[in-house]
Amino acid sequence: MTGPTVVVGEVADGHLTGPTLEAIGVARALGRPTVGFVAGAHARSAGPEFARYGVLEVYVADDARLDSAPGGARVGPLREVLASTGASVVLAGGTTNGRELVGRIAIAWDAAAATGVTELAAVEDGVRVRRPIFGGRATESRRLTGERQAIALRPHAFPSPAESPGTPHLHEVSPGALPAPLAAAERTGVAPTVRGAGPGLTDASIVVSGGRGLRGPENFHLVEELAAALGAAVGASRAVTDAGWRPTSFQVGQTGRAVSPQLYVAVGISGAIQHIVGMISSRVIVAINSDASAPIFKVADYGVVGDLFQIVPALTAEVRRVRGL
Ligand SMILES: Cc1cc2nc3c(=O)[nH]c(=O)nc-3n(C[C@H](O)[C@H](O)[C@H](O)COP(=O)(O)OP(=O)(O)OC[C@H]3O[C@@H](n4cnc5c(N)ncnc54)[C@H](O)[C@@H]3O)c2cc1C
Repeated sequence: MTGPTVVVGEVADGHLTGPTLEAIGVARALGRPTVGFVAGAHARSAGPEFARYGVLEVYVADDARLDSAPGGARVGPLREVLASTGASVVLAGGTTNGRELVGRIAIAWDAAAATGVTELAAVEDGVRVRRPIFGGRATESRRLTGERQAIALRPHAFPSPAESPGTPHLHEVSPGALPAPLAAAERTGVAPTVRGAGPGLTDASIVVSGGRGLRGPENFHLVEELAAALGAAVGASRAVTDAGWRPTSFQVGQTGRAVSPQLYVAVGISGAIQHIVGMISSRVIVAINSDASAPIFKVADYGVVGDLFQIVPALTAEVRRVRGL
């Protein structure tokens, strides 16, 4: 492994996303030259943001077609960048697009690959990675050897890097013609997900989820108020979404969203395995439940045994007081 690391950037609202910044931080920590790559309608305007974090060589494929085409459409321009820079590693953020691109580029570029990575270190003949498997019940270590590695990180597993501004050198990359099978998978619409106020569930660094212990939809505001005080996203167990208290887009778990925030607060949730697999890789888990034998306490870092109707309003008031809200 001798060549540079290429970080694949993603853009939202005209700026590089949080997962992209996490990938930049990881790439810089590998201690090799780092190159940025970004494709899509805002590539040319967002690309220079790489330089705020010390990544000065930036390749942009500015073409709006790449936003609506499947992720595979970026493989062509990315391969061009990998070839012209002589890269050894390509790193993507822990997003659906990042994982898809890593899977595809690993085949096209003949690279060793891993996704959902929470630890990464350079070793003599490649990189060593660790990642949660079996829904977070075990951690796998792998050594990716050979000349090329393609890696997607797990969201929130790494901090954003400190700023280290410089002057970017932008290189234009032609996206070329879209391969026919990709052009054939035309996106016909994007409907925003129904979600609570505050950050999106899968992006949030704090999630507060409510379960059947809330007894009815009329009490769900307790969860929402605590989430608002913490600046958190709101989640729910399937008991809540099946009962129609909240839309299915709120559901955390095996058949809902997988989240891995810095802090996950489970309110009135028993901790069925199907819920646990969706939140077990959260950095810190807090459970509030009146039943001391509830399984959620087996995975919680902090447990409060008691009545949520007393604890949650008191906790919300305290968070508001401490944060001056
Ligand atoms: C194929 C399959 C897929 C599934 N996928 C998912 C999934 O993706 N996500 C998911 O969440 N579930 C999923 N489930 C359902 C899962 O098995 C559980 O039924 C569900 O998670 C239970 O939700 P709950 O914890 O809110 O409710 P319960 O299990 O009823 O737990 C309610 C908890 O609230 C506590 N409580 C009650 N009153 C209070 C109070 N006053 N104060 C504090 N605590 C109180 C109780 O002690 C209890 O532990 C799936 C099930 C199947 C079969």
